[in-house]
Amino acid sequence: MTQWRSLAEEFSLIVGSRNVVCTPEELIAYECDGLTSYKQTPPLVVLPKATAEVSQILQICDRKGIPFVARGAGTGLSGGALPLADAVLIVTARMNRILQVNLDDRYVVVQSGVINNWVTQAVSGAGFYYAPDPSSQSICSIGGNVAENSGGVHCLKYGVTVNHVLGLRVVLPNGEITDLGGVIPETPGYDLTGLFVGSEGTLGIATEITLKILKTPETVQVLLADFATVSSAGQTVSDVISAGIIPGGMEIMDNLSINAVEDTVATNCYPRSAEAILLIELDGTDIEVQHSAEQVKRICLANGAGQVTTAIAPEERLKLWKGRKAAFAAMGRISPNYYVQDGVIPRSQLPFVLQEIDQLGHKFGYKVANVFHAGDGNLHPLILYDQKEAGALEEVEALGGEILKLCVKVGGSISGEHGIGADKRCYMYEMFSPADLETMQWVRQCFDPKGIANPTKVIPTPATCGERRNVPHIPNF
Ligand SMILES: Cc1cc2nc3c(=O)[nH]c(=O)nc-3n(C[C@H](O)[C@H](O)[C@H](O)COP(=O)(O)OP(=O)(O)OC[C@H]3O[C@@H](n4cnc5c(N)ncnc54)[C@H](O)[C@@H]3O)c2cc1C
Repeated sequence: MTQWRSLAEEFSLIVGSRNVVCTPEELIAYECDGLTSYKQTPPLVVLPKATAEVSQILQICDRKGIPFVARGAGTGLSGGALPLADAVLIVTARMNRILQVNLDDRYVVVQSGVINNWVTQAVSGAGFYYAPDPSSQSICSIGGNVAENSGGVHCLKYGVTVNHVLGLRVVLPNGEITDLGGVIPETPGYDLTGLFVGSEGTLGIATEITLKILKTPETVQVLLADFATVSSAGQTVSDVISAGIIPGGMEIMDNLSINAVEDTVATNCYPRSAEAILLIELDGTDIEVQHSAEQVKRICLANGAGQVTTAIAPEERLKLWKGRKAAFAAMGRISPNYYVQDGVIPRSQLPFVLQEIDQLGHKFGYKVANVFHAGDGNLHPLILYDQKEAGALEEVEALGGEILKLCVKVGGSISGEHGIGADKRCYMYEMFSPADLETMQWVRQCFDPKGIANPTKVIPTPATCGERRNVPHIPNF
């Protein structure tokens, strides 16, 4: 059995005793990530401040064969940072420095615990920004974004995190420090940066990250259109893209979400009677945005939009986005718990799949609110339930599983941006053959031959689907 107390003492010599958490009441703060239905108190938490400290910690883990789980801000929605009963939790919250800003070559280097929107804040004065903008951007870490290959509202036009990471300093599971990529977009050899992005903490810990920054667009305009059916909003999304327009973002919210948001943050912009609203953000040069906005408005009206509101001034745009950004939190207003799924479908399947999700909700007896990155076909059905009701979580998970299978059936994917983590590993078989999964295991083993980096996550072991992970465990100190 791992000697957690002596390990805590060893880690204290590296990071200082203040940065090793080992009392049961403090450990509880780390018992889950954003997927709060799964809980596991970690036996030990350590908060390093620099790459060298991470390296020393992982050398000890490697030598003693102790598993570890990396954690950024703990906002992940698939249980990627869910602690394991026998693993050290390594938290990057103190690795919060912006190390370099290079406007000439348009990149910044940050420590992995830096919060997403600090990057834009650091360069916006000079007319630059960092494009990937998860709705959690004011709290999630860049390291977490890299590990999940996170998306966001503006990823339709600009791409997800992997398209914005130039280089990574990584501590491998044996404690060795390595650099992947660099400060230029293309380097010869295998794309190991691309391989690491989206690896969910299974290949090592990213400690320093080089990110591309973009010039702030000349003009931004947001359009808000309301529709009598979710299908017509979905059809509008397809028609906008078919017309050759790539908006910065296109987001749909259904009636349940609209009313939850209006009850919570009162934008007074989203018509409560609409079955769906579509938010479309256009950016670029003045003339380009103006031309596209006219086309988009015509497409909305042709699909039966009631009203199309536009906003150009920053405060007006923020007002239109406010409800979308608060949508997940607003679910707390209408339901004690929610379970968010994250699947991708081809855009053309939006009307069909949304109808099917509605029917599945009725079949299982749960309300499903829909808020999603419609332009990418990235759905986020929010299944509303009460965890106190016996069996509700299991039913909701089964409903979520049916939704994922539906996504795969129409040619989509079981994750758009939230990752697989602990939550969705059993659905990997829906998308990948045993040979595909074995290949992934080989890659994993090249980085982590002892299998100590976030073990059991992402790639299923045959027994995984039936396993429960929420058995509380508080270690005995
Ligand atoms: C309200 C809300 C809205 C959200 N909206 C979006 C959205 O629009 N788009 C989106 O993509 N996601 C969204 N998310 C999910 C979540 O915010 C992202 O997945 C985010 O990238 C997680 O970052 P984190 O720092 O919280 O990572 P954590 O939750 O701490 O960890 C996530 C995973 O990354 C690994 N990890 C963390 N740091 C490192 C590191 N330095 N090196 C290696 N592995 C590491 C962990 O082991 C884990 O597997 C949302 C979450 C919430 C709660």
